[in-house]
Amino acid sequence: MNNLPSIQSCPKCKGGLEEQENSLICRRCRTRYSLNHGIPIMIVDSAEKAS
Ligand SMILES: [Zn+2]
Repeated sequence: MNNLPSIQSCPKCKGGLEEQENSLICRRCRTRYSLNHGIPIMIVDSAEKAS
């Protein structure tokens, strides 16, 4: 069972995501989603704006 959906777009703006270090960064709105052991935390409330 390897059924993890690959997350290709930002839940906030549907922009494309880019993997960086330990997080995914939205190319459009620059929101940063942390990765927790390789699993992205796609919760807009806990995301932070990348500088
Ligand atoms: Zn976005």
